Amino acid sequence: MPLVDTHAHLHFPEFAEDLDAVLARARAAGVRATVTIGTDRDTNPAAVALAERHPEIYATVGIHPHDAGAATEADFDALERLARGCAKVVALGEMGLDFFRNLSPRDAQERAFRRQIALARALRKPIVVHCRDAHDETLQILAGERVDEIGGVMHCFSGDVEVATRCLDLGLLISLAGPVTYKNARALPEVARFVPEDRLVVETDCPYLPPHPHRGQRNEPAHVAITAARVAELRGTDPDALGEALARNAARLFHLSLP
Ligand SMILES: [Zn+2]
Ligand SMILES: [Zn+2]
Repeated sequence: MPLVDTHAHLHFPEFAEDLDAVLARARAAGVRATVTIGTDRDTNPAAVALAERHPEIYATVGIHPHDAGAATEADFDALERLARGCAKVVALGEMGLDFFRNLSPRDAQERAFRRQIALARALRKPIVVHCRDAHDETLQILAGERVDEIGGVMHCFSGDVEVATRCLDLGLLISLAGPVTYKNARALPEVARFVPEDRLVVETDCPYLPPHPHRGQRNEPAHVAITAARVAELRGTDPDALGEALARNAARLFHLSLP
């Protein structure tokens, strides 16, 4: 199955020991490209450095809502320099709101989110949105900042069909991760059937959120095949054709050149 893992953290220390083996397993599973996602002042340069070393890895740079409270002017300047300086930085983010863990004050999360959307607009790059327990607030900001003119993806989608509809209306892609394979997948199976084929992508969010039956282990890009196969099963479609379509969607959003 031809695949793109649209959201991974391959530059995190969890992969430092065995990245070559991880990438080999990804290739064997059909993964043609992986987007490694920066989250703060330390991980952004690491993401870019990794993308510069591996042809099949692309990067994003962003300030995660967890890190928004600690972000300084210098961090935003550094982020912009990285985004301008490397052609393999394909999007800004991850950015957004997380009212589940609330690791940063809400006003700081919102300020960092708006600022990164403005930067994405200036740089003409799409955005990667993280949203947890904050759908109304996130969608309101995205609408107000005219995300439809920028493009982006709602990563690790956790809402229902109603939220998915609002994301689609804003021009966003919907990205499904490991939780769609869980027994307690809530509204995700319905979302997997609902989203039009040309608006859907898949991701691992590795090292987090491994799909069933790998829960409790470190996740990795090869497992995106499990999530994609489950989505194909839910939709009653051919997995290879679906994988190809989802890979095309990712390539279109991030301007990837797939082998
Ligand atoms: Zn996230
Ligand atoms: Zn992430």
